[in-house]
Amino acid sequence: MSNYQLTYENIFKKAVKVILLLFIVHCTMLIAQTKLDVIYIDAGHGGKDPGTIGDKTGVQEKNIVLPIAMKLGKLIEEKYPGIKIIYSRTTDEYSQVKDRTIDANNQKAKLFISIHANHKKQEESDKQGFEIYLLNKERFPEAVEFTMKQNFQIAFQQFGKDTLDNFIFSSLAQAGYTRLSEYFASIIEVNMLDHSELISRGVYQAGNWVTLGASMPSVLIETGYLSDINDEKYLSGEKGQNDISIALFNAFQNYKTLYESQ
Ligand SMILES: [Zn+2]
Repeated sequence: MSNYQLTYENIFKKAVKVILLLFIVHCTMLIAQTKLDVIYIDAGHGGKDPGTIGDKTGVQEKNIVLPIAMKLGKLIEEKYPGIKIIYSRTTDEYSQVKDRTIDANNQKAKLFISIHANHKKQEESDKQGFEIYLLNKERFPEAVEFTMKQNFQIAFQQFGKDTLDNFIFSSLAQAGYTRLSEYFASIIEVNMLDHSELISRGVYQAGNWVTLGASMPSVLIETGYLSDINDEKYLSGEKGQNDISIALFNAFQNYKTLYESQ
């Protein structure tokens, strides 16, 4: 009888151990799922595509956004060596916009940040400061309208006759990430105001062809206006580029905390 009891107890203990072990594995998997372990940093343009050009000095957008992206990546690498950072480019090379989002998707990036600089249109009055763009499904029709107006020509070259289909499909896929993108955008704005000398022109809930195909929370920052003499000077210099990378790094840390506490 006592032998039987012992065996029974042993089986019971083993069962408890197995259940506990399974529970721990389950929890570890859950944590692993919400780890922000892969991020994509996109320095806009590159190679034969200079982006926009500074009015005063002729500085090219591609040469401003690359050091900002590299500095941001370095700050993240130093503090979080476990995070895999994928750069769209680390040198002055050209790649298609759509290849960047495909690459980010294939490598299972969990956050996509695209870094650019802006230029006012000829007919516009002077503009300065940074802008942040993301997609918002609630304002989807406006996003379509905005994107079609702003980018149809470029988009058509990239996606051909499937342009509208691609946009709608990608935008709907994006909808699930809108909340996180919104948070990231807002925290970038806060940190940019804190750490840079640039003014904010706000967060825009609009479609953009760079973040279009990204199946993850994604934002695009227009760091400033190269048609503005002050922005151009600030963005061209080491201090401005450092300030912006620090602002983006802090925003990244805030985002990481929120993301991993989900
Ligand atoms: Zn650009």
